[in-house]
Amino acid sequence: MIPLDEAQRFVLGLCQPLAPVELALDDALGCVLSETVMATEQVPSFANSSMDGYAVRADDTAGAPVSLAVIGSVMAGHPLEQTVGPGQAARIMTGAPLPGGADAVCMIEETETAPDGRRVVIGRALQPGAFVRQPGRDVAIGDVIAPAGTVLTPAHLGVLANQGARTVMVHRRPRVGVLSTGDELFSGSGPLPPGRIRDANRHTLLALLRREGWDGVDLGIVGDDESALVELFSSAASRCDAIVTSGGVSVGDLDLVRVVLEKLSAGKMRWMQVAIRPAKPLAFGVLADSATPVFGLPGNPVSAMVSFELFVRPALRRLGGHGVVHRPIVSATADEDLHREVDGKLHLLRAHLGLDDPASWRVRTTGGQESHQLRSMSEANALILLPDGTGVHAGEAVSVLLIDPDGLGSATSLALAAPHGQPGTS
Ligand code: AMP
Ligand code: MG
Repeated sequence: MIPLDEAQRFVLGLCQPLAPVELALDDALGCVLSETVMATEQVPSFANSSMDGYAVRADDTAGAPVSLAVIGSVMAGHPLEQTVGPGQAARIMTGAPLPGGADAVCMIEETETAPDGRRVVIGRALQPGAFVRQPGRDVAIGDVIAPAGTVLTPAHLGVLANQGARTVMVHRRPRVGVLSTGDELFSGSGPLPPGRIRDANRHTLLALLRREGWDGVDLGIVGDDESALVELFSSAASRCDAIVTSGGVSVGDLDLVRVVLEKLSAGKMRWMQVAIRPAKPLAFGVLADSATPVFGLPGNPVSAMVSFELFVRPALRRLGGHGVVHRPIVSATADEDLHREVDGKLHLLRAHLGLDDPASWRVRTTGGQESHQLRSMSEANALILLPDGTGVHAGEAVSVLLIDPDGLGSATSLALAAPHGQPGTS
């Protein structure tokens, strides 16, 4: 057996970022920028109002309250042609360009407009610049707005759109073929024939890919048949950046994936017994003809998913250009005794991680921990990392790998989390 980190290093060592491509901005969410983007436009591009109110000359407001003559209205998108002179004001809406002569805005709540709208009383003295969004205060020309390696979030796409960008240079999303192997797999929808099982793995693995935003290619089911496997690997390699199989990597008589991989990878395949439970066996190699990485995951449904999390996901993130490839690990309090035997392996227990109060993570297992018991995986958002030994007692700290950050939930309400309300417009 080899330690988990050694196996992960071996896999990652054979995976390189895919070549950059130009993608439309709206197709690039979650992709990794391959080059640094610098601002060529300042944002905001002109001085504008952050409030609905009146544009004024700050000097005029020194003796507030003061009465000023209203010379017009300025709306967003419609600059005012007149200049605001001494003793004058212009009605202004949020986002409208500050008229010439004005250098501050008084919010509408602190004014009183005459019934005919021709004069306004400004209720307080203003500093120059009050409620004015100055040009370049968000982004200045030459600013690095997103360095190479940035994982594009919705906000990044907005920042890039503010620059007039229509496309971005990013690492391509990996396109990944998924294949289930085994004579026992039954693809029909009717009752199961004797001794056959349904194919869970193709669905879990394709969904795991989809959740990351990657393109999954359904390669179907192949029986325990060496020549069919050879043919499928070769044809899939021409249209996929990586291939993920499940089944056929143990020591059984018909564990042919590793045999076929051995042949097609010209000695670059490694069949590993990783010191973890579940997901001990892993065959990983790079096809000799195409340099396509192939992951031979174990067939047990939980093992296949755990192996995906530990090996496939990090490797595909590397293909996609990500710098950070592993999931976060947090320390949590065990809600129950977690007994185990000494066996030289790291145990990964399906578990649910939750916030007890805002500062305290708690974790409990979600059911049966045999590697065919997929139901407990469906209730898990985390894997407890239980090192070799005899386990831990309830109340002790354990390390937990977070595998479904969206499944965390929250013990706090948004109202409690945001006590500092800011005045302003939306
Ligand atoms: P193997 O790795 O081929 O020895 O398979 C290990 C176990 O996983 C066996 O009980 C298989 O029947 C089961 N298995 C293999 N492939 C799948 C699959 N696609 N879906 C569900 N179970 C599977
Ligand atoms: Mg099999």
